[in-house]
Order: sequence, then structure tokens, then C-alpha cells
Amino acid sequence: MSKDYYNIIGVQKNASADEIKTAFRKKAHQHHPDKGGDAEKFKELNEAYQVLSNSQKRQQYDQFGSDFQSGQAGGGYGGFGGQGMNINMDDLGDLFGGFGDIFGGFGGGRSRKSTKGRDLVLEVKITFQEAAFGVEKELSYPRVGACSFCQGSGAAPGTKINNCHNCHGTGRVSQIQRTILGNIQTQASCPECHGEGKIPEKKCSHCQGTGRGRVEEKFTIKIPAGIDNGESIRVSGRGEVSEKGIPAGDLLVQVQVLNHRRLVRDEDDVRSVEVIDIKTAILGGKIEIETLDGSFDLKIPEGTQPNTIFRLKEKGINHLRSRGRGDHFVEIKVEIPKGISRQNKKILEELKF
Ligand SMILES: [Zn+2]
Ligand SMILES: [Zn+2]
Repeated sequence: MSKDYYNIIGVQKNASADEIKTAFRKKAHQHHPDKGGDAEKFKELNEAYQVLSNSQKRQQYDQFGSDFQSGQAGGGYGGFGGQGMNINMDDLGDLFGGFGDIFGGFGGGRSRKSTKGRDLVLEVKITFQEAAFGVEKELSYPRVGACSFCQGSGAAPGTKINNCHNCHGTGRVSQIQRTILGNIQTQASCPECHGEGKIPEKKCSHCQGTGRGRVEEKFTIKIPAGIDNGESIRVSGRGEVSEKGIPAGDLLVQVQVLNHRRLVRDEDDVRSVEVIDIKTAILGGKIEIETLDGSFDLKIPEGTQPNTIFRLKEKGINHLRSRGRGDHFVEIKVEIPKGISRQNKKILEELKF
């Protein structure tokens, strides 16, 4: 189901980056869990901001909705926006960052932890045709993922997982900070269980309880129609899995589009060159040409000049970010025969133009 990120942040669809930032800060202040706000709302808000503050993600969201990346990410590693409180302290700026300066780390502790696993880059080759119309590709690559022995739980199979004794299963611990303004109680992630609230009775022997291991990752990615050579798709959560409580990195799928033997891409248009003989150029006729949609009978009008360009409307590449397609332009070359027979020479000489 697609979420309305604009509505969540409370801005119009055409809001500028600054407007989005301002509205986000206001709402973040309102919903911040440390200030008694609703954690779910805060998470949702953060997710919306992760997308709308990134021009590339925003563009994809505008076209495909919030399912575009999360659908591909699938699995258990969170979709768009990643897991948890992946907040960017720079964007909150003086709101929370300022506190950090006065109180020596208030609020900053968690933000520093909110990094993610390593991003991975994978190159994928697709044909010219696949780029034009879109394609689904099964990807297979090694990554640090969930330990296959314990399914990422970190517990030896068949053993119990207990509540953490340090935080009593809440995953959070209170800390008293002495500051010039008095004592302040803050909440931090429990160091014992890394904020999970649970600790395995017996650690998995394969991953030593980390829940991570080398796996051959496999999933199917939808490459959208109109993608061009060198463009990449970011799939959140398909990079390397890091410590518990930290979102996995992203997978950057770099698309390499193979050349076509006859067609050349020019943005969303397609160009090709066709050679006709002098007789067809003078008298007209039909030639069979190759297009993205298969073979096509192109009508050559009488008296077609060399370098004439014919436009086949909507026979080009699908637009990536809007409906419709580019065009196909066919440039005509006329072949002048060399070394013709004596008989043809005689006929030509008798012709009167
Ligand atoms: Zn394991
Ligand atoms: Zn704990």
C-alpha cells in the first residue's frame, strides 16, 4: 500500500526542499518520542522525510509511490527508509543538535549509532530492448546477510531466547546526566542486548551470536522501462547486514545497456540509418526496417532525397518518468552503384531528367 508522504509531512506536492525541511522539523519536534510523542508517527515521519529530502527518491516516489523500492526490498530488512530511527541529525539541526552541544551528547548518542550496513554495488547488463520496455532480472550476489543457521536470531537452533536482564526486555536504559542545568534523565539503547531487549540463552555457533553470515542473496528486481546506460537503482536493505538494531545497507544496481546492432539511442528517441537503391529513391517503394516493435514496412515516397529523415511517432523508448514513448527517426542513405553494366549505362544515358 502506498503512503502519502506529502500528507505525513504536511506539505503540498510541489513543496520546495526548504519547505519540506521546515515542515519536517516542526513535526519531528512534535512527535519526537523522547518528548512524549508517538514513536510510530515519528518513524513514519522519518520515513517520509528520507524519501522527500532526496531528489532522486522523491522523483521515484512521485512516479511509483512508496512501494517502488520497498516492494523490491522485500525480505526482513525493511524497505524504503530502512528500519528504526534512522534520523539525520543534520536535518534537525539546532533542534536537537544544539542540545548535544550544551549537554555533551544528549540525543547525539543514538544518532551516531544510526549508521547502517555497508552499501553494495552490483552491475547488471540488459539489452537495448529490455531498457526500452523494462525487465525483471533475477540477481544473485554474495553479501553479509542473516546467518543461515539461526535465521539471524543469533541463538543456537532449538534454544530459548530470554529477556535481557539489563533492560528487562525493553531494549532501553535510563541514564542520568549531570549538566549545568541540573540532572537530566535520558534514554539510551541497552548496550547489553543492542536495543533488542532479548538475549539468546545459547549463542549460535555459526555466527557467534551476531546473527550474521555470508549468504548468496537472490531476488528479482524490476528494472523500469526507459532506464538508460549508467543509471542505477537503489534497493534499500539489500546491502550488507550490520549489527543488530542497525539497518542493512542498500544495494545499488548499476545498469549497463548493451548496444543494439541497428538502433542507436538518443535520449528517449531511437535512430537508425537505412540504405536504399537509386531506383527506390527515384520511383518510391517500400522497405522493411527493424524497430523496437519488430519489423516495419516503411513507405519511401517518389523522389526521396539522400539524408531524408522519416519520423515514426511513438516507436522509441518508453519514458522513464512519464507516460508515452519517444520517436524513431530513420535517416535514408541512397547508394549510388559503382561499375554498372554497359547495358545499364546505355539506358541511363537515354534517360532525360
Ligand atoms: Zn547464527
Ligand atoms: Zn538489554
